[in-house]
Order: sequence, then C-alpha cells, then structure tokens
Amino acid sequence: MSTIETEEQKALRSAVAALGKRHGRNYDRETLWAEAAKLGYLGVNLPEAYGGGGGGISELSIVLEELGAAGCPLLMMVVSPAICGTVIARFGTDAQKQEWLPALADGTRTMAFGITEPDAGSNSHRITTTARRDPDTGDWLLTGRKVFISGVDIADATLIVGRTEDARTGTLKPCLFIVPRDAPGFTRRQIDMELQAAEKQFELTLDDVRLPADALVGDEDAGLLQLFAGLNPERIMTAAFAIGMGRYALAQAITYARDRTVWKTPIGAHQAIAHPLAQAHIDLELARLMMQKAAYLYDAGDDIGAGEAANMAKYAAGEACVRAVDQAVHTLGGNGLTREFGLASLITAARVARIAPVSREMILNYVSHQTLGLPKSY
Ligand SMILES: Cc1cc2nc3c(=O)[nH]c(=O)nc-3n(C[C@H](O)[C@H](O)[C@H](O)COP(=O)(O)OP(=O)(O)OC[C@H]3O[C@@H](n4cnc5c(N)ncnc54)[C@H](O)[C@@H]3O)c2cc1C
Repeated sequence: MSTIETEEQKALRSAVAALGKRHGRNYDRETLWAEAAKLGYLGVNLPEAYGGGGGGISELSIVLEELGAAGCPLLMMVVSPAICGTVIARFGTDAQKQEWLPALADGTRTMAFGITEPDAGSNSHRITTTARRDPDTGDWLLTGRKVFISGVDIADATLIVGRTEDARTGTLKPCLFIVPRDAPGFTRRQIDMELQAAEKQFELTLDDVRLPADALVGDEDAGLLQLFAGLNPERIMTAAFAIGMGRYALAQAITYARDRTVWKTPIGAHQAIAHPLAQAHIDLELARLMMQKAAYLYDAGDDIGAGEAANMAKYAAGEACVRAVDQAVHTLGGNGLTREFGLASLITAARVARIAPVSREMILNYVSHQTLGLPKSY
C-alpha cells in the first residue's frame, strides 16, 4: 500500500477520474456540478452529521485535481466546500450548519467568497468593507467594495470578509458575513476577463446591505483566526486546480508528441521536446507531494504547519502549472495556438494559479520572513 495515499483515497481518485473522462473538456459546468454532488464528491470534506463525506481537504483536493486533469475543473470547489464549508463547519452556529452544510454538500446551494478589494489587493489587512450594528434591531449594515470575486452570479450567497466598527475603541476587526445574492444594496458588475472559463469574476458593491444578526459566521472577536481556517484550504485547493490543469495540458502534449512526425521519428523522440515534458511531469509530481503534505497537516488539525505547507504547495503548483502549459503549447507548434486544440486559452488560465488567491511574490515574502527569518521590506 502506498504510504502517500490510502486505498480509499486511491479509489476516490480513480472514480473521479472516470467521472471527469465522461465529461471531458467540453463539459457543462452545471451538469458536472450536480453529478459530482450526487456522487458525494463536492461535500467529501464536510462533516457526516451534516450530509458530508466526513473526509478532509486531502479528499477534496483529489476530486478537484482529477477533474482538472480530465479538462473539466470546477473552480467553485475552491470556494464553496473548501473555504465556506470549512469556515461554517468549524465556526458556524448549529443553525448555520443546518442551513448551509447539507446544501453545500449535495450541491443544491453554492457559496462564493469575497475578500479582495480594489484598494487593498494583496494587502488584505487594508480592507475597508465595514459592518455596523443597527442599535434598534441588532441587524448588521455592510458597506464596501470587492473585486475579482468568482461565481457570485451562480452562488446563492457570498461569504464576505469585512470589519466591524468597534464602538468602544474605533478599531476595526475582520469578520465574516453570509450575504444572500439578492440582498438589497448588494450589486455586481461582471469584469471582462481574458479567461475562457465557466465561472465569471465580479466587482461587488455593498451599499448599507442589511443583514440579520445571524449573518455573522463565528465570533466577532476571532475573525482573523477563523479567516485563516478557510484560507489554508483555499491555497491547497488552488494547488489542486493548478496540478490538474498542468496534467491536462501535459497529457495533450504527450499524445501529440508521440504521433506528430516531421522528420524520421515522432517529435517526442527529440530530447528538446521530451526533456521539458519530463521536467514538467517531475515538477507537477513534486507540487502534488507538497499539496498532500499541506492537506495532511490541515486535516490533522495543525493549522500552523499547514499554513506554511499550503503556501509552498500553492507556489510550487502555480509555477509547475505555468511551465507545463507553456511547454505543452510549444510542443504542438502552430496547433498549440489553434482553438481546435484548445491549449492556448490555458496560458491565461494557468496565470490565475500564479496570482490568486495569494501571489507568487507574497508567498516568497511569507517564506522569507516566516520561515527564513529575514527582515520585511513592506
Ligand atoms: C480569475 C481570478 C479569480 C479570483 N477569484 C477571487 C475570489 O473568488 N475571491 C476573492 O476574494 N478574490 C479573488 N481573486 C482575487 C485575487 O485573490 C487577487 O487578484 C490577488 O490576491 C492579487 O491581488 P491584486 O490583483 O490586487 O494584485 P496586487 O496586490 O495589486 O499585486 C500586483 C502585483 O504586485 C505584487 N506585489 C504586491 N505586493 C507585493 C510585495 N509586498 N512584495 C512583492 N510583490 C508584491 C504582486 O505579487 C503582483 O504581482 C481572483 C483573481 C483572479 C485573477
């Protein structure tokens, strides 16, 4: 038996791969989402008591990686079960768990996640979306702007990261609020992205959005801790997304390089073609190993250890994905840039894994400061 994956995890991997193969690159997002949910894959990390599979981020990352490797990634898995499901399962009230977890697990409801703001960007400590209490009703009133938020149109609600206005000290603290898609004052504008993906990105405006007291997830005073409980799974899942995409691109290139013959032998016999593909494969395997370590630590409850590993896994997977896609496109020559072969659009898609949810440079900063103890430049 492999010491890296259990027999159950291996069985999950091959079952999801079979599902991905049935749907393939021309997949319909909605149909695949519903089928994956029905088979228990979307809620595989959520608690059994609330309709989930009782597994962890290890299992959820297997699902996303295998769907990506088949050419049909479900981006909202990074957000809905991984961030929102985790945060609600760990910090939500029993009523919030009852309301959301079974529906996130069976795919009937989806939740988006909004932290990025136009004037804060990578510096999420600078977010200004503010929640204040209506002293008469106890309701929350949320005001602010978000940008690049994925899937808000297809999500029933968005988990918005804001700050409460602390009446006593005037300081602000990060807090998480469930904002229903059609809440009055909650508007969205689709951003025109150069991405060919089933999921769209939105700029959001929150203009005194009135929310009931129980829209707040978790403790008002423990926002940062709760936030990071969701951000580590997000990084691990982005690694899974990137590794899946890299594997998909590499597989197309290998098939092509085996067949395409312009001299005496297939182009794959030339080391100039073969070696970079072999390197791409090694890089993806190494990235997966770090992703598995991060998922293992997270599932074991080691939030601190998982934080460092999740950052490194996201970095390694993003870089491996960008390189694999680049080499795959090159392997196909002119066909790498045709719509028919469908690889050129992955050049843009692969860059997402380098910039989101935390950029390559911010991870290098994190490792420089937290791991190596070097001084900060910002
Ligand atoms: C397709 C897509 C989907 C997304 N989905 C979501 C979502 O669902 N929810 C959500 O909240 N956000 C989402 N995002 C936003 C994403 O998380 C941000 O784009 C990312 O955090 C970077 O922020 P920014 O774009 O403002 O870049 P900036 O912070 O402006 O950074 C620009 C550049 O400067 C570099 N940089 C910044 N600070 C430093 C520093 N101190 N040292 C060195 N370099 C630095 C960065 O590495 C980057 O290269 C999405 C983005 C994309 C592209």
